[in-house]
Amino acid sequence: MLNEEHVFYEGGCQCGAVRFRGTGAPKWTAHCHCKDCRKTTAAPFTTYASFADENFQWIGAAPAVYVSSPNVARRFCGNCGTAMSYESERWAGEMHIFVATLDDPEALRPGLHAYVVDQLSWVHTDDGLRRYHQTAAEGGPLPK
Ligand SMILES: [Zn+2]
Ligand SMILES: [Zn+2]
Repeated sequence: MLNEEHVFYEGGCQCGAVRFRGTGAPKWTAHCHCKDCRKTTAAPFTTYASFADENFQWIGAAPAVYVSSPNVARRFCGNCGTAMSYESERWAGEMHIFVATLDDPEALRPGLHAYVVDQLSWVHTDDGLRRYHQTAAEGGPLPK
């Protein structure tokens, strides 16, 4: 079953030093097309799952941190460089991890597209998901 409730969602970096565990269902999942996420993941867009801080823990080596803009912390493995998480004051109390770093990336499905204002012209999706200029909280959905 898709989106079935797992007790734990575990994942980690490429070398295995940094590991994490989300407990229970994530608050939301989304693709992000913004320029900062593109840079930090070296990919055309990335896919997040958000866990409440109380439902998230690092269970391996502590990740390194890069402050990409004021009040935004992006963590990564200091050994292999894998991008690991996004935190910001704007989304206080949430830890955003990359679905692609889960041990089982099929365990979660993306819920929407965010920041399609930055979407690359050669990225084409036909998945029927809602598309937002920025986030669901602002800008409203774009027509398909
Ligand atoms: Zn690593
Ligand atoms: Zn982004």
